[in-house]
Amino acid sequence: MDINEFRVRGKEMIDFIADYYENLDNMSPGSKVQPGYLYKLMPHEAPEDPESFEEIKSDIETKIMPGITHWQSGNFFGWYPSNNSFPSVLGDMVSFMFNTVGFSWICSPAATELETVVMDWLGKLIGLDKRFMAIKEDGTEGEGGGVIQGTASEAHIVAMIAAKEMKLEYLKMHGESDESICTSGYKLVAYFSDQTHSSGQKACNIIGCQARTIESDEQYRLTKEALQAAIKQDVEAGLLPFFVCATFGTTNTAAIDDISGIAEVAEAEKLWFHVDAAYAGASLVCPEFRPLARGIERADSFNFNPHKWMLTNFDCSALWVANAKYLVQSLSIHREYLPRVKNSTEFVKDYRDWQLPLGRRFRALKLWFVMRMYGASGIRAHIREHVRQAKWLEEQLVADGRFEIMAPVVFGLVVFRIKPGVFDASTSSLDDIVNSANAELVKCINSDGRVFLVGTKLRGVDVLRPAIGSSHGTSENTTRLLQVIQECSEIVIARFS
Ligand SMILES: *Cc1c(COP(=O)(O)O)cnc(C)c1O
Repeated sequence: MDINEFRVRGKEMIDFIADYYENLDNMSPGSKVQPGYLYKLMPHEAPEDPESFEEIKSDIETKIMPGITHWQSGNFFGWYPSNNSFPSVLGDMVSFMFNTVGFSWICSPAATELETVVMDWLGKLIGLDKRFMAIKEDGTEGEGGGVIQGTASEAHIVAMIAAKEMKLEYLKMHGESDESICTSGYKLVAYFSDQTHSSGQKACNIIGCQARTIESDEQYRLTKEALQAAIKQDVEAGLLPFFVCATFGTTNTAAIDDISGIAEVAEAEKLWFHVDAAYAGASLVCPEFRPLARGIERADSFNFNPHKWMLTNFDCSALWVANAKYLVQSLSIHREYLPRVKNSTEFVKDYRDWQLPLGRRFRALKLWFVMRMYGASGIRAHIREHVRQAKWLEEQLVADGRFEIMAPVVFGLVVFRIKPGVFDASTSSLDDIVNSANAELVKCINSDGRVFLVGTKLRGVDVLRPAIGSSHGTSENTTRLLQVIQECSEIVIARFS
């Protein structure tokens, strides 16, 4: 493809994308294909001779499109949202244009410096404490700062690596021998609740430390007391607590752990304190949500995903550390082919020391486009509209009488089920019937095809958890969701009564 064809095809592609978004609301958000469908449709070797753009485009429509789950549809309420926006797409186009690999400042000074600027912008936008800013109010370099990771899972691993470094340094300073430090890895214990995202366990598998899962309270929150008790037990057994993760908006129910209480324990026990706000962190753009996150100013690291609920294309996960020392100490590796800026009077970051890979995309661009083209006011309006719709859905479900709300509706997530009272209470297997009916309700809704959502289990209880938050959805989509829930419930209740 020469540059003249690129001009033509590129414009066609923009039209293709715009048409897709225009028609999205009329398409079923879920895919109906069976596992392995594509292998049957595809040649089993790459082509020997070049093929045309037209042939590929036609395959996208006939072969790829049927196997797409339309995450950007306003009728998609599955998992947590994966926001994008047109400003963000344009920002990413500029990033693809440069296609820099910005591991060091010298690789593209603007890529590094824009990231420093926008991460401070974003931190201030969500009211993050000044400890986390790369540049202090007096214009000097801070000890901390933000960095864009690919995902919250990577942020979790990176935070845990820094935590391990901090613990091992502490042991060394307190007279432990090198030999004992070398063998202490498996004695390190990280603390989570039974609601913490799976990335916590994955991080432990990678680091090679123990993961302690603590039972959450009746509202699915990790409490200070439960954490204290678990640590006490482990210390008595000769283990080395080093890391705790609190979640602001868990994946199952959007529960909020006792962040202040956990901060206190982390300080007393010298644990690294990581706050995972992957989904709900975006709400902090609105000041009214900040009291719910009290205590995050005491964290060692804080993470949220603008790619979930803040209008920015996947991937964009924002991680801040209050002190980058341990991160850089553990992830910085010197090679002659990886130059640094020597004797720089101005501070610049080498973000390769703040992440797992060496190479990194210019992701700050899309975030910069989003913050500039929406403004703080536009982003706040985006969040508030979804919360309003979620509260509306909650009210409607309660008013209907057949449903019960299973977790407080705080953000855009509504966790509910058909309540047991709707079924014949005299049967001894009522719990099983209620569970089967609610699991069936998820299937019924998704095979209806007008909307898409997922269910989960809370301590063995089947629930549905539609998440409102699509960048392309309106209150009409939420009204449709309610309608499908009600129609399918009627079918399911009749079947199980
Ligand atoms: C979605 C989610 C994650 C994982 O996000 P990735 O960016 O896909 O790794 C982590 N924690 C919580 C609370 C989440 O909801």
